Amino acid sequence: MAEIRFYNGDDIPLELHKVRIVQKLDLVPVERRAEAINEAGFNTFLLKNKDIFLDMLTDSGVNAMSDRQLAAMMVADDSYAGSATFTRLTDKLKEIFDTDYFLPAHQGRAAENIIAMTFVKEGSIIPMNYHFTTTKAHITRLGGFVEELVIDEGIKLTSTHPFKGNFDLEKLETLFEKNGDKIPFVRIETGTNLIGGQPVSLENMEAVADIVHRHGKLVVMDASLLQDNLYFIKTREEQAKDLTLREITHRISKKMDIIYFSARKLGFARGGGIAIHDKSLYLKMRELVPMFEGFLTYGGMSVREMEAMAVGLDETMDMDVVSQGPLFIKYMTDELLMLGVPVVTPAGGLGCHLDASRFLSHVRQEEYPAGALAAAVYIAGGIRGMERGTISEQREADGSEHLASVELLRLALPRRVFTLSQVKYAVDRIKWLFDHRELIGGLRFVEEPSSLRFFFGRLEPVSDWPEKLVEAFRKDFKDSL
Ligand SMILES: *Cc1c(COP(=O)(O)O)cnc(C)c1O
Repeated sequence: MAEIRFYNGDDIPLELHKVRIVQKLDLVPVERRAEAINEAGFNTFLLKNKDIFLDMLTDSGVNAMSDRQLAAMMVADDSYAGSATFTRLTDKLKEIFDTDYFLPAHQGRAAENIIAMTFVKEGSIIPMNYHFTTTKAHITRLGGFVEELVIDEGIKLTSTHPFKGNFDLEKLETLFEKNGDKIPFVRIETGTNLIGGQPVSLENMEAVADIVHRHGKLVVMDASLLQDNLYFIKTREEQAKDLTLREITHRISKKMDIIYFSARKLGFARGGGIAIHDKSLYLKMRELVPMFEGFLTYGGMSVREMEAMAVGLDETMDMDVVSQGPLFIKYMTDELLMLGVPVVTPAGGLGCHLDASRFLSHVRQEEYPAGALAAAVYIAGGIRGMERGTISEQREADGSEHLASVELLRLALPRRVFTLSQVKYAVDRIKWLFDHRELIGGLRFVEEPSSLRFFFGRLEPVSDWPEKLVEAFRKDFKDSL
C-alpha cells in the first residue's frame, strides 16, 4: 500500500475507490427519532431503516461490493450439484488458506452450529480469547462452557497494546493442566468482535496453536474479522512488515485445523463456511451440511453469493482494499478522542467503540448504559449503533444478571460505505451528546427473551430522559434536522 500524504499536512484517510451506485438516505427530525426509538422498544435492532440516517449497526452483509464482485455474480453457475461456482470458490479457498476441503454454510453462526454439534458435549470446555454472542449460544445450548483467556490488557478500554485480542498463554497452559480432558478444541477469534475488533498477533496465534497441538487438541479459527486482523498484523507486527497478506494468511492457516467464517464480513459478501485441511475432520462434520444447510455444493447460499465471496476473498488479499476500514475507524476514533469522548483505544477493526461506562458514568450497569447510549446516539443523530454490553449477555442459570466486563456502543463502519463527511457528522453529534450526557438515563426490560435477548428484547427508559434530550437538541440546533 503506497502512502499518500497531503501537502497541507492533513492526516485523513483517502478513499481508494470511486462510488458508482448510491442509495438515497433520509434524516428524519429529532422528534420523529424519539418516537421511532420508542416504537422500537429502545432496541436499535428493532428500528426501521426508513427512520435511520447512518446505519452503523453492523459490518455484517452491508459492505459495499466491488465492480468485480457484481460482474462475477452475473456468471454464476446455478446447478444443484457440482456447480462450477462451488469449484471456483473452493479453488479460491485452497489458494488463500491452502485447505483441501470446504463445507458451505448459510452464514457464520451456521458454521458454528456444525462445529459445536460435532465437538461439544455436556460439560465440554471451549477456551477462546473472547466469545462472540452466537458462538457462545451454540456452545452453551449443548451444555458446554466458554472459558475466556484474553490477556488482561484486552478488557482495558484505553491502552496502547497493539494486539489486545491475544491469548494469555499461561492461562491456556494452566487450563489444559487442570481440565485438558474436557477440551475438544480451542477457538481463536481473529479479531475479537465484542471487545472492539482488537486483533491477535501472528506470534500469539502460532504460540496458541503449538500449545493446543502439544496437548493433542484442535485449533479452530473464527476468521470472520480476519481482514482487519491481517491489516493490523502487517502494520503493527515487526516480523510481518515485509510479508504480503497472502503470506501472512498462509502462515496462520498452516497452524489451524479448522477455519470458519462469516462471509457477511470476510469477503464482503454473504454466506459462510468451514475450510479444513484434514479429510477425517471434514468427514466428521460433512453430514450436518445437507441436514441443516443445503446440498454440499451450496450449503444454503445462492450461487451469486458464492461468486461474490470468491472474488471478495481475493480482494481481501489487497492492502489497498482492507486498509480502508481500519483507516476510517482510526480517523473517527482519534477525532472523538481529541474531543475528550471516551472511546476504546487503540482503534481496532469493524467499528469505532464508545466506552459507555465512562460516557454515562452516572448510569448503573443494571440499567444498561450501553443500551441507553445506543438509544441516545440514535435520537441525537439518526445514527444506529449496537449495544455490546450487559444486554448482549445472557442471564445466569439462576436468573441473575450477568454484568458484562465492558459496556460498549459499537458504531460499525461497513467497508467502503460511508464518506468522510458522514463520519464527521457522526463525530459532531456524539460530541454534542457527550456535552449533554447528564440528561441521559438508564433503561429497563419490558419484554425479555431468555436467549439472544439483545436481538428482540424490548425496553423502556427509567425516566422521561428521552424527552429532555429532544428539548435540549431543539434548543441548540434550532430548526436543523
Ligand atoms: C458475525 C460473526 C459471527 C457470526 O456470523 P453470522 O454470519 O452473522 O452468522 C461469528 N463470529 C464473529 C467473530 C463474527 O463477527
